[in-house]
Amino acid sequence: MKKGILNTDELLAGLNEAQREAVTTVSGPLLILAGAGSGKTRVITHRIAYLMAMGEDPEVILALTFTNKAAQEMRERVMYLLGQDWRRSPFLSTFHSFGLWVLRRFAHHLGYSLDFNVYDDSDQLVVVRDILKELDVDDRRFTPRGVLAAMGRARLAQGNPGELAAEGDWGRVVAQVYGHYREFLRLHNAVDFDDLIFLPLKLLEEDELVRDFLQRRFRHIMVDEYQDTNTPQYRIVRIMAEKHRNLCVVGDDDQAIYSWRGADVRNIFLFERDFPEAKVVRLEENYRSTQTILEVAWHVVKENTLRKEKRLYTANPKGEPVVLYVARDERDEANYVASKIQELSRERPLSHFAVFYRTNAQSRPLEEALARRGIPYRVVGGLRFYDRKEVKDVVAYLRLVENPDDVLAFRRVVNVPRRGIGDRTIERVLEFCRRGSLPLGEGLEVALEAGVLPSVSRARLFSFVVLMGELREASREMPLSGFIDHLLDRTGYRKALEEEGTVEAQSRLENLRELINVAVEYDDVDEGLREFIDRASLATPLDEGGQGDMVTLMTLHSAKGLEFPVVFMVGMEEGFLPHALSLDSLAGLEEERRLCYVGITRAQEILFLVRTRTRLYYGRERAFPPSRFLNSIPRELVKVEGGGPGLPQEPPVVARGRAATRSREGGAPLQWRRGDRVIHPIFGPGKVLGTQGSGESLKVRVVFDKVGEKLLVVRFARLKREG
Ligand code: ATP
Ligand code: MG
Repeated sequence: MKKGILNTDELLAGLNEAQREAVTTVSGPLLILAGAGSGKTRVITHRIAYLMAMGEDPEVILALTFTNKAAQEMRERVMYLLGQDWRRSPFLSTFHSFGLWVLRRFAHHLGYSLDFNVYDDSDQLVVVRDILKELDVDDRRFTPRGVLAAMGRARLAQGNPGELAAEGDWGRVVAQVYGHYREFLRLHNAVDFDDLIFLPLKLLEEDELVRDFLQRRFRHIMVDEYQDTNTPQYRIVRIMAEKHRNLCVVGDDDQAIYSWRGADVRNIFLFERDFPEAKVVRLEENYRSTQTILEVAWHVVKENTLRKEKRLYTANPKGEPVVLYVARDERDEANYVASKIQELSRERPLSHFAVFYRTNAQSRPLEEALARRGIPYRVVGGLRFYDRKEVKDVVAYLRLVENPDDVLAFRRVVNVPRRGIGDRTIERVLEFCRRGSLPLGEGLEVALEAGVLPSVSRARLFSFVVLMGELREASREMPLSGFIDHLLDRTGYRKALEEEGTVEAQSRLENLRELINVAVEYDDVDEGLREFIDRASLATPLDEGGQGDMVTLMTLHSAKGLEFPVVFMVGMEEGFLPHALSLDSLAGLEEERRLCYVGITRAQEILFLVRTRTRLYYGRERAFPPSRFLNSIPRELVKVEGGGPGLPQEPPVVARGRAATRSREGGAPLQWRRGDRVIHPIFGPGKVLGTQGSGESLKVRVVFDKVGEKLLVVRFARLKREG
């Protein structure tokens, strides 16, 4: 090889012996099996630089990883190593963008033209919806999203959903839709996301010319986060590496967290079968975390039965004990996190802090607590709570309940979930209102009377107007949280999500549960609906730019491969981590335990584990037992904060939500007098200023020590006398 562009001595100086061996082993198959923070990704980036330093053409180097963020990170690290000498770049990418690159060159071999379109999730949904309509399938039972998800699963499991036909009603429908779906994509010269993996694989397996080209072109192939590749991805790299056999894969079986997407840890072990001459390198030194953090991580993961034992050591200092904070509830949890960040950020930038949770819905209290203190944050890989579709939908319903003339809210929800009210009908009604200068509420009624719509559309719109009328009525009778719960049922919104049965729908349901939890705060507030809507509309991001010094909020899944000096893991309870859906299988529980391990091992210096005693769950306060993973941690590694008697200077916990409704029905109404000291489960202590109204509409005005004046409806109020 000709002289390189970099000084290899310098490059190798920053590596330990095992890493150096891995970096300099550039021919033949290589398996690097090593724990978190041991420098696996560092080996890949140094190996790329080393190859180039040895004069290898960057074009023949391919490094694949899992997420765009990881690919970006890798690119930056290589760029840094190569400094000025960065000329042509090696191929660093995700599996999907690599697949796209292959198809842009060879899709014509499969009958596509090279300018094909790529359909994303929402495009796919539109296609499936149309097919269901065309086939006259009951789309309440077979929802487009449900069918789409079933197609994806079947494709991963057996390659061809067409073969599902034998498996009952669902199988038959899915198989039939899939046939039409393929035809549609073909006709429109389009591919979907899964095709970006499956079609290149097909080419590699069946098209000699393409196989030959790819095998020749990529002399060196590397795969990071190898434990999370699925079978078709594994087959792609295996075939591509058949000729040169310079395939280097790095992974950690303790960090396999994507089996729900078809990833299979066994691929790691298959590697040694398919490449028997493979050299295996193990890295045992962790450079990322303190001794204490590393030990905590090991104690958690070692209880898994389906693992190969490996234990990391580190030369890093022992560090602080891990802090376990036991919060009273999710608000206390969020406040604790925010106040700790405030305190610690006097000495370090906000970019040092990350907060991890299991499900997206858990970010809401955290976002609010940070926003209240003016601490900038970014939510990675997800939308902020109030920007989420389902939250916006429900808030739109509430706006329409509150104000029948709200045109935007009407447009948003009139056909969500689908009621067969099309855009044409909506346009006609709005046009009718405009021409008659009628506000929407009145215009709708007149339009329905006047017969400006065809009878089917008229009937559907009529039911919607009746439904909204009923809801308006109910909103006056019920506390807000109960009302939203009722609204989700009456509108069919919840049912539509439940029937979808996808992971995404599950997460939407969780967000709605969270929204009801927020609403509980307004249950006994006069004009609670109005205040609630305002809060949702005002909860706009502090800083959309995503740049600058900020705290990072993300799910445990998206934290893979990253590292932060200070990490908070919240929601360390049974039902959250491990997640409720995984409690009934050993494999599921072990995957959750690995996820917990992934979270812990992101921390470099300080780790906080936070759990709460109780949480609002669909507006009701429920106790959650501590996560079983906490039991694995030896006492001496942990410092417990909070939770003890007398610690939180906060009002005592009393029943909230529906539970509270029940207790109200039983007890005799309390009489409030000016000057009475009272306590409210959410607003805390305060003093009664006076009452107004009588009977059902009796209200009490209270000035709270912390949040100021509130007018509460006595019928719903959860006030107690202080003391
Ligand atoms: P994960 O399993 O979480 O993906 P990893 O094995 O890929 O972890 P890296 O991210 O490559 O680990 O490395 C962890 C940290 O340790 C990084 O900050 C890296 O720069 C540092 N590091 C790794 N090896 C060395 C070394 N030999 N000398 C100094 N720092 C190192
Ligand atoms: Mg890594």
